[in-house]
Amino acid sequence: MPKPTEAELSVTTPRRRPKPEVLEVGGRRLKPSTLMMGHGYDPMLSEGALKPPIFLTSTFVFESAAAGKRHFEGVTGKRAGGADGLVYSRFNGPDQEILEDRLSIWEDAEDALSFSSGMSAIATLMLAIVRSGDVIVHSAPLYAATETLIGRILGRFGISWLDFPAGATPEEIAQVISAAKAKGRVALIYLESPANPTNALVDVEAVRDARERLFADESEKPPIVIDNTFLGPLWSKPLRHGADIVVYSLTKYAGGHSDLVAGGVVGAKSLLDPIRAMRNTIGTITDPNTAWMLLRSLETLELRMTRAGENAAKVCAWLRTQPQVERVGYLGFLDPASRQADIYRRHCEGAGSTFSLYLRGGEREAFAFLDALKVAKLAVSLGGTETLASHPAGMTHLSVPDERKKALDIRDNLVRISIGIEDPDDLIADFAQALASIG
Ligand SMILES: *Cc1c(COP(=O)(O)O)cnc(C)c1O
Repeated sequence: MPKPTEAELSVTTPRRRPKPEVLEVGGRRLKPSTLMMGHGYDPMLSEGALKPPIFLTSTFVFESAAAGKRHFEGVTGKRAGGADGLVYSRFNGPDQEILEDRLSIWEDAEDALSFSSGMSAIATLMLAIVRSGDVIVHSAPLYAATETLIGRILGRFGISWLDFPAGATPEEIAQVISAAKAKGRVALIYLESPANPTNALVDVEAVRDARERLFADESEKPPIVIDNTFLGPLWSKPLRHGADIVVYSLTKYAGGHSDLVAGGVVGAKSLLDPIRAMRNTIGTITDPNTAWMLLRSLETLELRMTRAGENAAKVCAWLRTQPQVERVGYLGFLDPASRQADIYRRHCEGAGSTFSLYLRGGEREAFAFLDALKVAKLAVSLGGTETLASHPAGMTHLSVPDERKKALDIRDNLVRISIGIEDPDDLIADFAQALASIG
C-alpha cells in the first residue's frame, strides 16, 4: 500500500482534541459565565472526569512518526496554523489549551496564549515584535516593571520610546505617534488603562484613529497593544475599541485568590502566532498546575468581579463623606462633563474595585491608617477575594523620581486600595476604625 502523502495525512488524521464547542443553545449565544464550566474540554478524552485532570508530563507520545513530524511543522511555524498535536510541555499542554480557549471567550477573541506571569507575557510579546532601531510609543505611566523592560532592557538593544500621558487628547496622541514615526519604524503602540495609581483612562479609539490616519499609506501598521489587567475582562473589552492585542496579569482579577502568578495575551491569530513562536523558543508558557487553578478561578470570575465592584461602589460612597478623607480617586466619581467621563462611557462597563484614597495629611497619617486596618491586609497586588491596601509612594512607586511622582500625583497621603468580596459593611467598619485611629 502506498504511503499516504502529507496532505492526505493532515486530512484523514482527526484533531487530537475535537473541541466540544457548544457555543449556543436554541439560537441563544451562551454567555462567558456559562461557557467557563465546560468550554474546550471533552470529559470522554479523560476517563469521563468532569473536571480536566492536571496533565503533569513533560512530553507527549506521538501516534506515528509522520504525526510527530506534522506536529513539529506546526510548532516551528513551517506550516501555518500552529500545533495540531501535543508535543512537549514547553510548547503546549491540555490544561493550557483549555485555559486559552476560555480566556478568548471573554473578549470574543480569535486566539489566546497563557504565560508564567504577566511580565513574561509582556516580555515575550515585545521580543516577538521589536527589532533593533525601532521606536515604541506608549501611554504613561506604565506598570513599573513594564517601564523597566521598555526603557532599560530593550534600550540596551537599540530600541527607543516616546510616551504620552494616559489622559492625552486625540491631538496630543497623534503628535507623539507622528514624532515616533519620524524617528524610526514604530514597532508597536503600547497602552495601559486605567493607569496606576492615577486611574487616568486612555482613549483607545483616539489611538486607533491616529494610527489609521498616520499609517494610511504604509504596508505595515504598528499593532495597538493594551494592558487590561485593572478592568478586564469584565469591565473593559478593548478589542472592541481598536486594540489589536490585549495583555493581562492573570495574577490579579482572573486568578483572583492571590495564590498564583500568570499572564495572558488575547487577539487575532495572525498577530499571536509570532508571539507563540517566541514563547515556544524561550519557554514562558504557564505550567499545568497554574493553568488548572486558573480554570477554577474563571468559573467564578463574573461573580467575584461583580461583587467586588458593588462593594467598591458602596465603600467609596462612604469614604468620600469622611472628614479624614481629602479625595477618592474612583472611576465611578468622574465629573460627567469631563473628557475622562466621556472615555469611561465609551470604553468601560464598570468602575472596577481598585482606587486611590487621598487622606488629609501625609505619610504619618497614611501609615497610621494602614497600620490600624484589621480586615483589609497591608500588601501590594489587587483583584483578589480579600481587600488589600498599600502606600504607592513608599512601596510600588518608591523608585519613581520625585519630579515624576509629583506629576503623577503620587503623594505621601495616597493609599491604594483593592476591594475584595467580603461583606461591604464589615469593610466600612474596618475603614471607620482605621480612620478614627489616625488622631
Ligand atoms: C501586576 C501587573 C503586571 C505584572 O504582572 P505579574 O503577573 O506580576 O508579572 C502588569 N501590569 C499590570 C497593570 C499589573 O497590575
